[in-house]
Amino acid sequence: MLACGDCQQNMVRNGVTQKGKSYSYYMCFSNRTEKSCTSHRINDTKLEAAVLAVFHQHVANLMNAERILQYINSLPVKRNEVRQTDNLINQKLAEVERYNRYKTKLYESMVDGLIDVEEYKERKSAYDEKLRQAENAAGKLRAEYDALRKSTGSHAWIEQFKRHKDITELTRPIAVTFIERIYVYENKRIEVVFKYQYDYERILDYIQSIHAAHPFRLPGDGQNNGSRLERSVV
Ligand SMILES: [Zn+2]
Repeated sequence: MLACGDCQQNMVRNGVTQKGKSYSYYMCFSNRTEKSCTSHRINDTKLEAAVLAVFHQHVANLMNAERILQYINSLPVKRNEVRQTDNLINQKLAEVERYNRYKTKLYESMVDGLIDVEEYKERKSAYDEKLRQAENAAGKLRAEYDALRKSTGSHAWIEQFKRHKDITELTRPIAVTFIERIYVYENKRIEVVFKYQYDYERILDYIQSIHAAHPFRLPGDGQNNGSRLERSVV
């Protein structure tokens, strides 16, 4: 998970003892083996502290995004969208009912001898086509409606991050669960790429699209850094 930001090779752990005290640090594998990269040497304790701080920042960003989503869901535009979709579904369902009624009447007309079998078949197939279209449209609208309602709900993976918001130590299992990759650069800067990056970026895109169409004041400083966070290790 820990990689050199410049050559992308893994970082390897080394230990040294100075004045009776032992220290561990990470360094670029390419540097240690063939000197094809610079050392990227970084103290392990300081690195862990920096990654932990970035983790906390990321959870704060996720919670901020969640608050914005909740806010969007409370906007009239959102409620209208849900209501309009619901109305359209009802219209399509009424259409389905109407064509079924027409078909019954058509059948009765044939039985009563008002139309012949040929005309019945022809008109029936026209109604069947209309019915099929209305049912398809209702199905699509239903999916749209469900998606709209779903975007109001919380995201399980964000809940998972939130449950760990107060951690004071980044244990191996936690790191493996939440972190995709940590890049170490020569100037002692690190970049952390978190899991669920794609999902988080979709949420940010969604917020941005709603914000562009219906400007509102974003809570906090309005800044979202995506799922790649940088920090200096000092
Ligand atoms: Zn390297």
